[in-house]
Amino acid sequence: MSQIKHHITDPMLVAYAAGSLEHPFALVVAAHVSLCEECRVQLGAHEAVGGALLDGQAVHAVSVSMKDALLAQLDVVPAAEPDQTCERSGAYPGPVMKALKGKPPRWKSVGGGVRQTLLHVDDDGSVRLLYIPAGKAVPDHGHNGIELTLVLQGAFSDEAGRYGVGDLEVADDTLEHTPIAEQGAPCICLAATDAPLRFNRLIPRLLQPLLRI
Ligand SMILES: [Zn+2]
Repeated sequence: MSQIKHHITDPMLVAYAAGSLEHPFALVVAAHVSLCEECRVQLGAHEAVGGALLDGQAVHAVSVSMKDALLAQLDVVPAAEPDQTCERSGAYPGPVMKALKGKPPRWKSVGGGVRQTLLHVDDDGSVRLLYIPAGKAVPDHGHNGIELTLVLQGAFSDEAGRYGVGDLEVADDTLEHTPIAEQGAPCICLAATDAPLRFNRLIPRLLQPLLRI
């Protein structure tokens, strides 16, 4: 039985199914879905509904002749490249391995024993792997937007609860938190944000531009 207690919110799953989620969040959703059968089933349902809606729109919006022309074009369009999915490796699910281009993470220290590997940054936000040694904390911070954190190894606890492997925390601008890794294995997380974090202490704030958090 699945140990996952914290799942993707339904609106986020719908946005992911529609392909309208920003890349940093989409990677976290893909990674959670690869670990969570419950969300996989939900996603399948959303995709089926989305497909049915598209079919309905096509019938109404496209005239018969135009539809024939479109279908004729489809015949000559080469088949889409198969999605190059990567195999899971250690704590890293397939979508994360794909983002790592199949290589091990290249960790950089962010202080206090915490390390990160930046996977992607663009105008929509950023997504990174975080490595938090057992018993250590990520500096306390708030959020200007949304932060999604998916646990890949170990577990952490903060003001909102306890998160183990596969659990997803959705933090918004109302949550100020200090995630602390549990004793045992180091905690490895996949974390995505759509806006810079707000650190409450000076040193992390000064380092922020360097770390691109
Ligand atoms: Zn789930």
